[in-house]
Amino acid sequence: MAAAQANAADVVVVGAGFAGLTTARELVAKGRSVIVLEARDRVGGRVLVQPIGDGQVVDVGGQWTGPGQDRILALAKAVGVESFPTYGAESQHVEYRSGELVTYSGPMPDTDPALLTEFVGAIQRLDEMAAEITTESPWTAPHAREWDAQTFQSWMDANLTSDGSKAFMRTVIEAVYAVEPHDLSLLYMLFYARAGGGILNLMGTEGGAQQDRFDGGAQLVALRVAEELGERVRLSAPVRRISQDTNGVRVEGDGFSYQGQRAIVTVPPALAGRIEYRPAMPALRDQLTQRTPMGSVIKVNAVYDEPFWRAEGMSGRAVSDTGPVKFTFDNSPRGGAPGVLVGFIEGGDARRYSSATEAERRQAVLGCFERYFGPRAAKPREYIERDWSAEEYSRGGYGAVFPAGTLVSCGAALREPVDRIHWAGTETATAFIGYMDGAVRSGERAAAEVLALLN
Ligand SMILES: Cc1cc2nc3c(=O)[nH]c(=O)nc-3n(C[C@H](O)[C@H](O)[C@H](O)COP(=O)(O)OP(=O)(O)OC[C@H]3O[C@@H](n4cnc5c(N)ncnc54)[C@H](O)[C@@H]3O)c2cc1C
Repeated sequence: MAAAQANAADVVVVGAGFAGLTTARELVAKGRSVIVLEARDRVGGRVLVQPIGDGQVVDVGGQWTGPGQDRILALAKAVGVESFPTYGAESQHVEYRSGELVTYSGPMPDTDPALLTEFVGAIQRLDEMAAEITTESPWTAPHAREWDAQTFQSWMDANLTSDGSKAFMRTVIEAVYAVEPHDLSLLYMLFYARAGGGILNLMGTEGGAQQDRFDGGAQLVALRVAEELGERVRLSAPVRRISQDTNGVRVEGDGFSYQGQRAIVTVPPALAGRIEYRPAMPALRDQLTQRTPMGSVIKVNAVYDEPFWRAEGMSGRAVSDTGPVKFTFDNSPRGGAPGVLVGFIEGGDARRYSSATEAERRQAVLGCFERYFGPRAAKPREYIERDWSAEEYSRGGYGAVFPAGTLVSCGAALREPVDRIHWAGTETATAFIGYMDGAVRSGERAAAEVLALLN
């Protein structure tokens, strides 16, 4: 009988996002037997594409990659998925601020030099502070306690003087972390930024984290890896309970039970906390899972017959102080047809708009698009939205965030195995935490950790 049909394997992996698929791929490459249990009826987790006609798709989850994100790029290359640059490097972008629309070129709006000077100065100070942090153990940084005791909002209030730069910094935090500045600790903000090559890198398009997209969408990479793994991946198999003793682990759900020597749980901490463990998790690990909520994001795509903004010299990028959509990009396929604008509703706006009707959201979203790109933007041929907080097996995005006090008190439990149970997932990464690249890295690290013990 093929190993794929067995109900026992060396390692049972929970979750078939990038972390779970990578860890399984690495283990299989080293000759180990693996079973991957995925709750959804598809692989990819927080990456997902939706068809938009003529064989084209649009990303409704994670999509961009950029310099330094070498592990996701290597994985994509290994399975034959190419990337291409985000449209608009040479075009004009839109800034909507205090009720006025202006255009600009280059990496950041420069219409208010005083605001820009204060903002860039603040970013430099934050980068200097972040330089103290080692991403393996941010909780040991010299100022860890002081920085973890305050929210990023407190830091902004104490260090930024103008309302304009505070508003712009808030928009940046919403865009990069999908939460409000009061939702995350200063230490976590710095740790995440450092792991991602600095806040300017995370904000940036050309030369930054939004530089490139995958042909066929980011989920294609996951689908190809899953194809390689074949029947080792079991879909529609939500794990409810993991038991362990000195002999091994038992991973169970409704109507199934698998045994292994080790388990690797690759779901974000908040979801890992919903699984029952026997014996129960140690106190610190459980406290961690109680204190690490997911960010809030609704991603919207509007599809047009053509990217009409391009003909007007526009990139499709907007940054705005007025929501619910405060950031947009051109999300058309590589060939430029059809035209697609993507926008994000984040943080508090996402939580508010989660309970609106789809018609209300659509009206508010298209109102923003029209404000940034004119009346044609109000009439897409298709409107696509995905509220990641409403997804049973994600419960938010882009990733988990650490509120004040959590990283110092519970951070040490993030990657620490509990006997035969190991942890992966982008939240456990030490580079590009929260990103697809971090997920891949975490899968590689967890596989190496387990291989050393199996050997
Ligand atoms: C809207 C949005 C936009 C984003 N944009 C970007 C971007 O542009 N670039 C970027 O790099 N990153 C982006 N991200 C983040 C990126 O998608 C994630 O960091 C990455 O995909 C996480 O991978 P993972 O394997 O760690 O976790 P996940 O993808 O969450 O995988 C976990 C898997 O476990 C499954 N699961 C959950 N509970 C159970 C259970 N009990 N039993 C079995 N299976 C379970 C889930 O269904 C899921 O498939 C974005 C995320 C979102 C939501």
